[in-house]
Amino acid sequence: MAQLIAPKRWWHWPFGVAFWGAAASIIAYIVEWFWKPSAMGPPLEHYIVVTAMAAPLLIVGLALLAHMDRLHMELAKLAATDPLTELMNRRAFLTALEQAGSGALLMIDLDYFKSVNDSYGHNTGDAVLLLMAARLRQVVRKDDLVGRLGGEEFAVFLHDANAEGMNIWGQDISNGVRYRDESVEFAVTASVGGVIMQTDDHVLHALNKADQALYQAKDAGRARFQEHISETRAGSQKKSA
Ligand code: GH3
Ligand code: MG
Ligand code: MG
Repeated sequence: MAQLIAPKRWWHWPFGVAFWGAAASIIAYIVEWFWKPSAMGPPLEHYIVVTAMAAPLLIVGLALLAHMDRLHMELAKLAATDPLTELMNRRAFLTALEQAGSGALLMIDLDYFKSVNDSYGHNTGDAVLLLMAARLRQVVRKDDLVGRLGGEEFAVFLHDANAEGMNIWGQDISNGVRYRDESVEFAVTASVGGVIMQTDDHVLHALNKADQALYQAKDAGRARFQEHISETRAGSQKKSA
């Protein structure tokens, strides 16, 4: 409710004062009509006097509503954002995925990331996560989704992508990132699992399939992309082999 009536643009302020001034004036008119009809002046004059009297209170009220609205927006943003990379967090990514329609869902996990922390320290590990987030942001289109699901695990949804596009994209991103500062330089690769999602697919099922493919990529030696092969497709591939 507060969000609906909070002023958001400059012209909402005079409009708000005029509108709530009219509401106050109607109430004052009704009270006067019951209480002291002789005090009732002409409606326009009454409106101007009541609005002018109520204006300071109305302005303070509108300022409080605007402040609450800003706090609410900041809170909603914080609740949906990963604090390190400022990508969508897991919850926000899953919520966005529910509305996403068909396309390619990819899960990306950095390889041997623990050894990056162990060898170069946690701050360098964080810098690698930031590099990866920047790379993902850079290579998706404006409407695609990028999130950090947790730790060194990211997820991407490419709208309307087919299996071929997903393969090219997944292989490219499995090259990971190269970190460089004054004293060290090293590369971190990624294992990537992907699945093509249809509009009516259940989000958690699709995520589970991409996760299975990701673990196949890990088992196969890391630094690669693996597509999830559905059981029916895997069966028909076996038959034809
Ligand atoms: P694998 O190739 O099997 O994925 O090995 P891994 O070492 O990447 O995976 P593992 O799950 O063993 O380790 C993940 C590490 O990620 C451990 C944890 O300390 C680190 N990590 C998780 N979140 C953060 C973070 O926000 N910052 C930093 N620097 N490290 C993090
Ligand atoms: Mg990892
Ligand atoms: Mg992991």
